[in-house]
Amino acid sequence: MISDAPAVPPASAAARNACKLCAPLGACVVFSGIEGCVPFLHGSQGCATYIRRYLISHFREPVDIASSSFSEEDTVFGGARNLKAGLRNVALQYRPTAIGVATTCLAETIGEDVPRILADYRKETTEAGTAALIRVSTPSYAGTHTEGFHATVRAVVQQFTRPAASHRRLNLLPGFVSPEDLRHLKEILGAAGAEHTLLPDYSSTLDGRTWSEYQRLQPGGTTLACVAQMSGSPATFEFGRTLADRPDTAAAWLESEHGVPRVALGLPVGLRETDRFLAELERITGQPMPAAIDEERGRLIDSLVDGHKYVFGKRAVIFGDPDMVIGLASLLNELGVQPVLCATGSKNASFGAGLRAVLTDVDTSGLVILEGADHAAIGEHARLLKPDFLLGGSKGYPLARELGVPLVRAGFPIHDRVGGQRVLHLGYRGAQQLFDRIINTLLEVRQDGSEVGYSYL
Ligand code: SF4
Repeated sequence: MISDAPAVPPASAAARNACKLCAPLGACVVFSGIEGCVPFLHGSQGCATYIRRYLISHFREPVDIASSSFSEEDTVFGGARNLKAGLRNVALQYRPTAIGVATTCLAETIGEDVPRILADYRKETTEAGTAALIRVSTPSYAGTHTEGFHATVRAVVQQFTRPAASHRRLNLLPGFVSPEDLRHLKEILGAAGAEHTLLPDYSSTLDGRTWSEYQRLQPGGTTLACVAQMSGSPATFEFGRTLADRPDTAAAWLESEHGVPRVALGLPVGLRETDRFLAELERITGQPMPAAIDEERGRLIDSLVDGHKYVFGKRAVIFGDPDMVIGLASLLNELGVQPVLCATGSKNASFGAGLRAVLTDVDTSGLVILEGADHAAIGEHARLLKPDFLLGGSKGYPLARELGVPLVRAGFPIHDRVGGQRVLHLGYRGAQQLFDRIINTLLEVRQDGSEVGYSYL
């Protein structure tokens, strides 16, 4: 039986060391994955500074985020003047293809009418080029970075998709995954011969190469021309078990407005979720997957046979974005690792159901599921549950240190290691890499704790 009831007193009314980030951060990640797009936050400058700092520390790339930079006066009388001046400056200095405008808490609280301000700007401004204006409402008191991310994907699709003739290009909405994950998805789709529109695609904009001259806009990203054609696609793949039943996602909108079939899948983390993704890909394309991918699957199964004895029965705490936690739980289920606590900062009613759907083989009696959790609550539960390791972002490090157990870093954010943007979670290859890291981490603990210090485990 899965227990949703906390084993400790309810958490405090205020978030203590949040296990979430703010909604405009998710919007900025999506805007970074649109070709030639500059993220622009309507509200206080501190919001943009904090988000830039957070993204740069994880992705290790320059991240420019413009701001309308409210003063006290704008807070009282509205920030239309600042927003228009800021848009003009960005348009003239960056010459972007698009500017993505997301609202902060302050702009939402005073009820800024952003669509009207943008329409006025369009009428009043001639010298600032023809950058497309994307707008999304992202009050952080109504959702986390995860909700901001999905709301922005939906906004891009709703605002830029046009009726189009049928074509063969698949739509793929991967959710908030790493640039390495995006590259791997493109590799899989390429190997399957599937033309596609990946939205968003920040695989090079948030993990790019070096340049001999500073590039104001990193090359890469989904083009709005491709977004316009998404209505003619044979299907929209949308990853995330917590999205599957929701009528307000981008894939749901494409299905209801343009009749594009929605293929709702879990994030393909681990063997089974990847099997499901590839089976659907074969069904839609009518093409079998290439032998190289099958070989990768075979190697993964072989390594599970070789290595499961080292991890079977271990107890894990997983935390992070809801669909990443479900994906990681699915992988641990396949390894015989027992998740004892699964937590997310999102208030997501589908989180528990998603976990129940993937945790089919391990003992889940006593499993604690927390949604809307902060790291203080995670710590209170984890101290009682005595896990062998933690699996999640770097904000779990203080707890890991306190408990004397290792933290296997996955998801977002990873601020205390390099390579967070290159962690591969998806596909058979991602499962292989996570499996190796988890096992080797636990072997290291065993080796370091041994009086003998075996070098042959
Ligand atoms: S005020 Fe709102 S939008 Fe700004 S940083 Fe804080 S939570 Fe994020």
